[in-house]
This record gives sequence, structure tokens and C-alpha cells, in this order.
Amino acid sequence: MGPRAATTLAGVLVAAVLALAGCAASEPEPPPLSRATAGRQPVTLLVSIDGFREDYLRRGATPTLSRLAAGGVTGVMHPSFPSKTFPNHWTLVTGLRPDRHGIVGNRMESPEHRAVFTMATDDPWWWSAASPLWVDAERAGIRTAAMFWPGANVAIGGMSGEVERPEPAGMRPSDWVPYNKAVNDSQRVNMVLDWLRRPEEIRPSFVTLYFDKVDTAGHHHGPDSAQTTQAVAEVDKAIGVLVAGLKALGQPANLVIVADHGMAATSSERTIALDTLADPERYHLVETGPFASLAPRPGAAADVERALLAPHEHMQCWRKADIPARFHYGANPRVPPILCLAQPGWLIQASAPRQPASGGNHGYDNMAPEMNALFIATGPAFAAGRVLPDFDNVDIYPLLRQLIGLPAAVGVDGSSAVFQDVLKGPAVPATN
Ligand code: AMP
Ligand code: ZN
Ligand code: ZN
Repeated sequence: MGPRAATTLAGVLVAAVLALAGCAASEPEPPPLSRATAGRQPVTLLVSIDGFREDYLRRGATPTLSRLAAGGVTGVMHPSFPSKTFPNHWTLVTGLRPDRHGIVGNRMESPEHRAVFTMATDDPWWWSAASPLWVDAERAGIRTAAMFWPGANVAIGGMSGEVERPEPAGMRPSDWVPYNKAVNDSQRVNMVLDWLRRPEEIRPSFVTLYFDKVDTAGHHHGPDSAQTTQAVAEVDKAIGVLVAGLKALGQPANLVIVADHGMAATSSERTIALDTLADPERYHLVETGPFASLAPRPGAAADVERALLAPHEHMQCWRKADIPARFHYGANPRVPPILCLAQPGWLIQASAPRQPASGGNHGYDNMAPEMNALFIATGPAFAAGRVLPDFDNVDIYPLLRQLIGLPAAVGVDGSSAVFQDVLKGPAVPATN
């Protein structure tokens, strides 16, 4: 084919394209694919990587998270006391510290109600002091979904113990799944992407996503182990799949990626055995580990206090009324009368361990560097390449309200002030 023929062919093609363009003006709308992806409002994705200590970001195991941090906002976030999973996840979605929201431990006892709270308890009564973000959002017509989150399975505001009722009153996210550790990372990510693939009328605007494996590896093998770094790398990969999936869907997202607390290396050689300090017949233990909480038996308060409130190496105990103010802890009736807190890396146990053991734990002073939690925020609402000064995790809830377009929170323990310089423009009002 000579140059002249090519020119002629090109001319024909141009004419054909122009003709098609002319036709298009009188044809119906463009094809559905472009309509489905165009004009999607940003979704707010709250991702928790349980036990992801902030410095895990600098292990060379997190290509995705490090890229997201560099392209967004990052910083050290301090958990609330106690630096445990349930108290802190509830803080992240209520803006209240545990003493106020009532989930004051992973394990709680209510002698007057003859009830025990464990991480499997979804009786609304335990949770009713606070209302999580998804309840306010749903009330405002903003659809929410939870791919696991402590409390997401609880019918907030519902009646207690009405198992025989087919649909107990109370509110949960529009979409939620009962917690099950066996659901793997990619199934969790795919569930979130499937929710976002839905038609707009039933597509969530606020979604939670939770990963447990970094915490589990940290407990079993310690924060400095190869296994923990491996778990970090696996979750990083899952988040990479999430980000790629969002891109493929054309779904803009403000990602807020957090941890509930960090992790400190522990060893059976660093144990404080309570039964060597006070007669175990004279008190009732509610929790042990990085902190211990206990109630003296009737008539034994003076003896137990004399033994425990005295100075100890690697541990300090207080009456609940005397817990230092910076912990914001001890006013809640669910906090047992005495709290003992170990130095990071030490464990308070009922008695000395029989076997040597090492691993990791959390629950320590929330300002201890070992408890520092991950924070990364990225997406259209956030500036790029910014590092925040340290802040407390009570500030996440006000930030999330702003991102999803809810009015500012009133009377909570945190504020979104720390984020104002890294937020771009006014928040996009959430539509469903
Ligand atoms: P911990 O390290 O004891 O503070 O708690 C971490 C554990 O909490 C993880 O191993 C999870 O399996 C468990 N967990 C997280 N979310 C839930 C949930 N919604 N219901 C029950 N257990 C949960
Ligand atoms: Zn945790
Ligand atoms: Zn843990």
C-alpha cells in the first residue's frame, strides 16, 4: 500500500468516525459501563489491622501500606487505656474512651447483673452506653456495611436476651457478617469489593474491614519474629488487592487504616505472680496479663490493698479512684476495685508459669511506645505526603463523621482538629 492509498484510508476512517459522532448526538446515552463508573461518590473505608504496631511499617514488608502512607497522611496514634482489642475498636467508632463507652476490658464482670462479658458477647446491654458511627449514619440515610468489627454484630439499642424474638429491635449496619476467624483475608477483601459492585441504591458509603492475623502472630511469636513480619506482609498484600479492586471498579475511596494497639515482647521470665504477693483466697481476679483487675473478697479489702498498693518492681497497683488521670479510667462501675499495671514486657499472672514461654502482648500503658498504633489515611479527601504529630485514637471518630458527611460530634472525647490541615476542601456530602 503506497502513501496515497494510506492517506485515502485515513480519510475514510476520519469520515467514518465523524459520521458516527454525528449519529451519536441523536442516539441514546453512552453505554452502561461508563455510566456505572462515572460519578461514584467516595466511599469511606475504615480498615483495622489488629495489633499492627506503628513501626511495622518500617520492616520492608509493606510495599502497599508504605506507598499509601507516602501518598497520604500517616503518624503515630496512641490507643486508649486499656490497650486491648474490644475497648479500642469501640473507641474508634464512638469517639469515647473505654471508661465512658463501657467496654472497659476484653473481659468484664457485672456482679449486680450476674453477667460476664467475653469477646463473644453480643447482648446489647453491655454496649448501650455509646452509639457507634454506623448507627448515626444509618439514621441519616447513609448506608453502612461491616466486614467484621467488634460490636458490629450487636443490635445497638435492642433488648437484651430476647433470643426467641425473630428480629430483635436495635440497629446494626445494613450489611454485616458474624465474626469468624476462618474467613481468610482475600474473602474479606472480596466481600467489601462485592458490596461496592452493587447498584447505587444498595451500595454502602461507609465500610469497616478487619484483619486479625498480625495480632495473632504477635501474641504467638512476639513482635520481633519472622512470623509477625510475614503476617504483616500478607495483610499488606490483601490491602494491595483491595486498592487494585477499587481502582478496577472506578470507586474512589477515602481509606482510613488503623490498628487498635501495638505489641510488646513478653517472656515467662518477666512474670509477676500475684499469689506470691497476696493470699489468692482473698481476692477475685477479673483479668490478668499486661494489667490485672481484681476485687477483694468481702472483708479482705484492707489486707489485699496493703499487699498490692505497696511499691513493686515492674508493677504498680491503684484503687480504681486513684488511677492517674492520664489513663481516663476507673470511674466506670465495670472497672473492678483494684487495677495493677505491669511495665511493658511484663505479665501479671495469678501464679508463676509452669512452662517457659515467650511471645507478645498488649494492654499496657497506652502511651508506651510499644503500644503505638498504625495510622494511614489516603484518598481524595487527604493531602499527600504528610506526617501528623502524635494523636489519640479518640480523634478518629470525629474524622470519620466528617468524611461521611455527618454533623460534627458533640460531647465525645476526641476532635478532628488534628486532621484539618491535611484535609482537602470541604467534605463531600455522603449520598447513598
Ligand atoms: P486480644 O488480642 O485478646 O485483645 O483480641 C484479639 C482477638 O479478638 C483476635 O484474635 C480476634 O480473633 C478477636 N476478635 C476480633 N474481632 C472479634 C469479634 N467481632 N468477635 C469476637 N472476637 C473478635
Ligand atoms: Zn487487638
Ligand atoms: Zn491481641
